Amino acid sequence: MFGEFNLIEKYFSDRQPQRKDVHLALGDDCAILHVPNHVRIAISTDTLVAGTHFLADANPAWVAHKALASNISDLAAMGATPAWVSMALTLPSIDERWLAPFCTAFFELANYYNVQLIGGDTTKGPLAITLTVQGFIPQDKALLRDQAKVGDWIYVTGELGDSKAGLDVILDPKKREHPFAAELERRHYLSTPRVLVGQALLNIASSAIDISDGLMADLGHILHRSQVGASIDVNALPLSKELKQFVGELSLAQQYALTSGEEYELCFTVPEENRGALESALAHTACKVTCIGQIRPQGIIELTRQGKKLDWSLMGYDHFKEPV
Ligand code: ADP
Ligand code: MG
Repeated sequence: MFGEFNLIEKYFSDRQPQRKDVHLALGDDCAILHVPNHVRIAISTDTLVAGTHFLADANPAWVAHKALASNISDLAAMGATPAWVSMALTLPSIDERWLAPFCTAFFELANYYNVQLIGGDTTKGPLAITLTVQGFIPQDKALLRDQAKVGDWIYVTGELGDSKAGLDVILDPKKREHPFAAELERRHYLSTPRVLVGQALLNIASSAIDISDGLMADLGHILHRSQVGASIDVNALPLSKELKQFVGELSLAQQYALTSGEEYELCFTVPEENRGALESALAHTACKVTCIGQIRPQGIIELTRQGKKLDWSLMGYDHFKEPV
């Protein structure tokens, strides 16, 4: 696309240490990779489109982080160890003021997770980034969505709701005046994929998913695939002080936590007999996890506050209330 201007050479080649399992990366028609023995390959693709997933004038470093972090989060949700990434980049023009910070942030995060860029494609058109990540899972192990059982405990990593509050700030300039607006906006873009947690859960969790569409929607995928129900204690939801102050009301903050998308935290289920092992398995991850409820028989999906059932609407995201 870019003729004699050697964009790929300048921005994408030789920006990373060579992994031992990469025989040939950028520069030829294909990448060539060594597949280690006794592992399976987990593969996931995600696209970010300007105007849909981020505003075209968003900080390019944050866009790069979001694109790669959301892809690596899918590997984390399977318990996979990230290894390789390829990138299809569609650019309206060669804007070096956009490309330079985009690439710097991309390689910084890729290096942190020891993920090597192995190839890609670059085309002209409306701004969009498609990444395909690949990682390793030990044979016969993976965190799937269909193995949650009645009685298992439901956990989430980190804190929930900040990403939705950050999106409020991005979409409504009036909200920028709030003292935590800048921090919440930053959190919307700069999530932390929970790779170490996912790996540590391989022998412990019965199911896992990453929260990209909102806790209730994503937990809903586990419930549907596992043919079970759930009870969630909304007072147990982990909330940041910034979120609580930003929305001003606890029950609204809880509603944000239930519905906020693009969090890239993990939601997972743990059988009673593995609960004791969970803490020591996660000790090295420096990641907070919180038990928010329990798997129930199919057909029961309830939210409770101090033991009382709440009236709620999953579809309408209505402000939920105790039944009168
Ligand atoms: P081809 O015509 O065979 O598709 P390209 O000219 O598109 O080759 O790409 C040349 C080389 O640069 C390939 O090895 C390709 O993987 C790599 N490449 C192109 N665009 C990107 C990108 N955005 N990120 C990483 N590698 C890229
Ligand atoms: Mg090409």
